[in-house]
Amino acid sequence: MSEVKAGSLYVVATPIGNLEDLSPRAAAVLGRVALVAAEDTRHSARLMRHLGVAPAMVSVHDHNEASRVELLKRCLLDGDDVALISDAGTPLISDPGFVVVRELRQQGFSIVPIPGPCALITALSAAGLPTSSFTFHGFLPAKGSGRRARLETWRADTGTQVCYESPHRIKDLLADLAALLGDRQVVLGRELTKTFETFLDGTAAELLAVIEEDPNQARGEFVVMVAGATEVASAGQAVEEDTLLRALLGEGVGVKQAAGVAARVLGGAKKTWYAKAQSLKDGD
Ligand code: SAM
Repeated sequence: MSEVKAGSLYVVATPIGNLEDLSPRAAAVLGRVALVAAEDTRHSARLMRHLGVAPAMVSVHDHNEASRVELLKRCLLDGDDVALISDAGTPLISDPGFVVVRELRQQGFSIVPIPGPCALITALSAAGLPTSSFTFHGFLPAKGSGRRARLETWRADTGTQVCYESPHRIKDLLADLAALLGDRQVVLGRELTKTFETFLDGTAAELLAVIEEDPNQARGEFVVMVAGATEVASAGQAVEEDTLLRALLGEGVGVKQAAGVAARVLGGAKKTWYAKAQSLKDGD
């Protein structure tokens, strides 16, 4: 009797919002594999219902990934195909899957990518920033000091910088960007492929002012893209207080919002900034 040929691990990209973005090839794979390894099986059950399929599913997430390798390996050795998916987008991109793919590839299994949605590529494709060279940073450190240390490394890089950010930290990130990178162009891609898809474009301080004015602009999921350094202005672009306030007021931002932005970017009491902004506006 001939040996059973080992199955393949399919790394399948799934939608980041709009279910119509699932490719026919991805749907076919999910409909025929013996097992789907999903970041969150309950979350992915919705996608399976949408497709009208009910594969066996097992969870593979950051906390059990290493121990799941053996189970997936046994399945593949039995000749069964397995699909790896995450909650949204492309597995391994700020999502689980790296350990599984590395281990199984090292052990000689066939790993087949099924390409599709990915928030960072979706965002870059429509932002209008240079894409010939870009750096993707995933999620930046949550703590202010760690985040600012990472942003320092963006100062001299001439490529476009891209990261993911949660709605809770988007204002802090914009404030740090304004303080460290001054008036670089920033594009926020929000709720991509969903009902409230929005692209906001401006300096970090301007975008912060927009969000201060309309808190709805801070809701949902974000890809943050920042123009690279120009050759001449790669170092020391710290914002000065009057420059920031004047720029915001010049853009038609209200005194209150401008004060809010300045307090976030440069520190200090909002009241003090309000007084400064008011006197600048009055031409004192
Ligand atoms: N694997 C996913 C991919 O391929 O893009 C990324 C998963 S990561 C855990 C989730 C983050 O990706 C979100 O916090 C957000 O920064 C970004 N993201 C995912 N979907 C998005 C969307 N529809 N619009 C904007 N950003 C999105």
